[in-house]
Amino acid sequence: MKNGICGLCKRHTILKKSHLLPKSAYKVLRSSGTKLAPPTKVEIDRKRVVQTDRQIVRYFLCGQCEQVFSARGEDAISKLWARGGDFPLLDILQKLSPVSTRGESYGYATEDLDQFIVRSLHYFAVSVVWRAIKWPGEDCNFDDADVRVSCERMRKVEEYLLGGLTHLEESLVMISVNTYEGLSDMISVPSCHARESFNFFEFYILGLRFRVFLNFHYSDLKLKVIDDHLNVMIMAADHGSEPFIKEVADFFFKNDIK
Ligand SMILES: [Zn+2]
Repeated sequence: MKNGICGLCKRHTILKKSHLLPKSAYKVLRSSGTKLAPPTKVEIDRKRVVQTDRQIVRYFLCGQCEQVFSARGEDAISKLWARGGDFPLLDILQKLSPVSTRGESYGYATEDLDQFIVRSLHYFAVSVVWRAIKWPGEDCNFDDADVRVSCERMRKVEEYLLGGLTHLEESLVMISVNTYEGLSDMISVPSCHARESFNFFEFYILGLRFRVFLNFHYSDLKLKVIDDHLNVMIMAADHGSEPFIKEVADFFFKNDIK
């Protein structure tokens, strides 16, 4: 423990050793004993794939803020991601009827899901991305031109994370749940992807791929989007066919990781 200013609530207090990615996710990888036998994890930073056992830790947040992050996001999500042979969130989706189908990709209506789960997924994704943007260490450096989150917008995000706002307008969290068995033992450091008219952050945690848009202008896109203020889209898809995942699989193959 160490004294300092908390990165979120800005109080001068005792700081905890904060993790960039949830400690509970590392535990799953270490005990998985499957493809990435312990103590292995994969860290993916933009196009770099690194196999490492190192957790990314810094004195960053106070105990109270860490507690809010757990209670509103991580606790629920850690019960939903893939672990061992179980994948609770995929089980939940497969019991529902998809509202859209595109090839092997199935879209689900958020109203068919437990609202606590949907809210937790949104909060969790935004909290991981916020942490990555504000991270005090060298482990996660974004190009400022790609991030495109103004100070004013960042204050809104922080207000939402602290509980002052019940939902974050103009945000969108897209979650893709992996249906391909065997590619869920992976954690990635958030990466930032900028296009001309929009940008998003992406990370993978144990079979869940999150894409987070912090400046999403719903009116600009011809998307049929939820008006339930949950700002979440959820689908199930075979991650084995994603170019990025293929790259990782190739890395495993070349390095003889079975
Ligand atoms: Zn704090």
